[in-house]
Amino acid sequence: MRPLQRLTVIVPVFNEAAGLPAFWARISAVLDTLADTVTGELLFIDDGSRDDSLAVIQALAMRDARVGYLALSRNFGKEIAMSAGLDFADGDWVVLIDADLQDPPELIPTLLAKAREGFDTVYARRAARLGEGLTKRATASVFYRLMGRLSRRVEIPADTGDYRVISRRAVLALRQIKERNRFMKGLFAWIGFPSAAVTYVRDPRSEGVSSFSLWRLWNFALDGITSFSTAPLKLATYAGMLVAMLAFVAGGFIILKTLIYGDPVPGFPTLMVTLLFFSGLQLLFIGVIGEYLARLFDEAKQRPLYLLKDQKVAGVRQPTTTAAPAVTQSRSTVAPTTQDF
Ligand code: UDP
Ligand code: MG
Repeated sequence: MRPLQRLTVIVPVFNEAAGLPAFWARISAVLDTLADTVTGELLFIDDGSRDDSLAVIQALAMRDARVGYLALSRNFGKEIAMSAGLDFADGDWVVLIDADLQDPPELIPTLLAKAREGFDTVYARRAARLGEGLTKRATASVFYRLMGRLSRRVEIPADTGDYRVISRRAVLALRQIKERNRFMKGLFAWIGFPSAAVTYVRDPRSEGVSSFSLWRLWNFALDGITSFSTAPLKLATYAGMLVAMLAFVAGGFIILKTLIYGDPVPGFPTLMVTLLFFSGLQLLFIGVIGEYLARLFDEAKQRPLYLLKDQKVAGVRQPTTTAAPAVTQSRSTVAPTTQDF
């Protein structure tokens, strides 16, 4: 018989203490049903939670050998937490799932079965979003459509979260991406490879509230757009060209008018309007350029993506496989750079 394949489930966690036991119960049940095709293991990434999440995870790890975790030294954000998970996940298949049970774990067998048909990424597409307000649904919809327009070559699937199963090959590809402003949905698409979708209904959160406020989502959108499209910069060029052309025509018109009618001290309003229009336009595009410059600045600093304060690898391995890293390492483990892998 072939040895079983391994499935690593990456779970980014930020202040989810209340919901974690229920999450663990549901996902364990799912992993049990899969037991004759894969050995499943969980990799929780505590993204600097301010509640007891880490303690809850550590307790789960004591009880269940399938549970491993990484503890980031502070809150780095979901995108980076997932990246840390991808750096350490060494299953043949990797699942990314939210801890709040909005992504039903029961979908994993379907995702995995589809992936085994020959897809490197099978993402879960949301048919409906329960328990999410109109503003969130509307802004998300606008965002996905806009992204689709702006980044034509890299097709980012609409209405898709991070919930997906990816192959080992895709994980290795993702590890090679070193950029700091990580818009994971874009990066998943950027690596290419065959991909497919499975549709599901997104449930409301089981406990607590979303940590993505409208402001945080706006910044997230900005990251997405500026790291996958230079369209705003092009817009600046075209707007500049258009305005320059209009100014040229208006200039000609004014010269002509002066030649024919003389110069009886023309209107202040025109002057003011033009002045405000131009300065507004200039400020706007200085801002756009600033956004890109800020991202360049972030990349140039070359800081590590994240730092770990604690980690435990799921203890399902035989001691003979010495290639695996030390089982428990604590206190300020510096994050491996992607070259280490
Ligand atoms: N999350 C995280 N770091 C953060 C914010 C969120 O790891 O800084 C995790 C969170 O614990 C959850 C997932 O990312 O597992 C999705 O977060 P949330 O439910 O708040 O987002 P939403 O579902 O509203 O998009
Ligand atoms: Mg959620």
